[in-house]
Amino acid sequence: MKIICIGRNYTDHIKELQNEKPTDPVIFIKPDSSVLKNGHDFYIPDFSNDVHYEVEVLVKISKVGKFIEPKFAHKYYSEIGLGIDFTARDLQSQLKEKGLPWEKAKGFDGASVVGKWVSKDTLPAVDNLNFQLTKNGEVVQNANTSLMLWKVDELISYISTYFTLKIGDIIFTGTPAGVGKVAPEDKLQGFLEDKKMFSIKVK
Ligand code: ZN
Repeated sequence: MKIICIGRNYTDHIKELQNEKPTDPVIFIKPDSSVLKNGHDFYIPDFSNDVHYEVEVLVKISKVGKFIEPKFAHKYYSEIGLGIDFTARDLQSQLKEKGLPWEKAKGFDGASVVGKWVSKDTLPAVDNLNFQLTKNGEVVQNANTSLMLWKVDELISYISTYFTLKIGDIIFTGTPAGVGKVAPEDKLQGFLEDKKMFSIKVK
């Protein structure tokens, strides 16, 4: 199983990190060892003093595909989820400055929270989903997938040009504005529409 992440997919988050708006989706891969399941504790790694949460809508691939056209992309997933792309922002900044890959800052153990999965049939259209992250009960990220620069079906098509998508692969579709630092004892909870998708304690 692989995790394919999209960077810079929401305009407001691009502004927040003072990044340039990309002409193509920014893609990176995280290893399966980075998965943190719902309900498990997240341990801040020793190598960072600035780990940020990034709440993201997830799509689980249900059919093998390569060179998928956007109009057929909806046939390749049936479940939607919500997760966190934890990022060691200090390490990522150092790596970005040197033009080096981000993997250490985003692919470490526990860096990919994968919450519950729900059938897309029980949700509004995938391009019109409300989602939210709360930290200690306070809303810190709140957005709708309609604000994505590249929609889910476009992302699947684009990704499959480079990587064969396999059953069980997970796409992290990018984070909106509001990312921030976590501290020990923080409680992070994610909501997709009216459904609670995960609850994570930071250690
Ligand atoms: Zn992200």
